[in-house]
Amino acid sequence: MSTGPSTDPPRLWSDRPGERLRFRPGVRVADLDTAATPGFTGGKADAPALQTERSARLAELQEMLYANHRVRGDRRSVLLVLQGMDTAGKGGIVKHVVGAVNPMGVRYRAFGPPTAEEKARHYLWRVRRALPPPGHLGVFDRSHYEDVLVVRVHNLVPPEVWSDRYDEINAFERELVDAGMTLVKVALFISPAEQRKNLLARLEDPAKHWKYSPSDVDERRHWPAYQAAYQDMLDRTSTVYAPWFVVPGDRRWYSRLAVTELLIDALAGMGLSWPPADFDVEAERNRLLRA
Ligand code: AMP
Ligand code: MG
Repeated sequence: MSTGPSTDPPRLWSDRPGERLRFRPGVRVADLDTAATPGFTGGKADAPALQTERSARLAELQEMLYANHRVRGDRRSVLLVLQGMDTAGKGGIVKHVVGAVNPMGVRYRAFGPPTAEEKARHYLWRVRRALPPPGHLGVFDRSHYEDVLVVRVHNLVPPEVWSDRYDEINAFERELVDAGMTLVKVALFISPAEQRKNLLARLEDPAKHWKYSPSDVDERRHWPAYQAAYQDMLDRTSTVYAPWFVVPGDRRWYSRLAVTELLIDALAGMGLSWPPADFDVEAERNRLLRA
């Protein structure tokens, strides 16, 4: 079996999610319906079974990527970049979508405020070091895009510095793609009301307090500034070779299904197949039965 780009939408989707969710110029962040479920023809009740089915497919493809690296020296990789405001669902995607694949082939990295060492370097330094090795699925929980998001909103560097970063990021990603990396850039969008609900849920559950930060409440005051920064990010860094996907995040079952499909598409488009045995299978079987 060999994979190829699929043309039919997956079960319970009217279109291929990638087509539906790819950022298109003119899309306004402020106008997004964050509770929508674009392209999905089913409902919440269909999600668990479908998620199980599609997670299995994703796991199979990811293992194929890994096997191709191990056996054939295939240098390609996939990098999932997750961006979104606090409680947009990044962690849930890591846990439920990425968590369904074999950790052997996964490289996960979360980006927080830069350490003293990182601050002393170029902002892409820590990013380069976290890139997935060949054959791996890399996951960035926040990313270099924070350097044009939080950094811009909080004036951590002057405008003339962050404004040059869009082109620089595009050139950086071009380099990654040319080296065999497929980027799946996902921007998750929730409404302010949904975020309040999610933050309240964190406060109500002692098992979620570790995810809560008092500064999350202060950040809410900057919502319009973040929206403007996200808009520019999408407008300026959604390229043909590394497009953004805009995923509504209020319904978590939807965003998880959608990101699963985006990853499946990325891997299915690589034309992978199981590497053939470099030994005589029948002869080995006979040898074993006699051993
Ligand atoms: P969390 O993802 O909730 O664990 O929070 C990580 C925090 O790190 C967020 O508040 C980000 O805004 C912050 N962060 C990530 N990257 C940067 C950066 N380059 N500069 C400053 N803050 C950052
Ligand atoms: Mg947080």
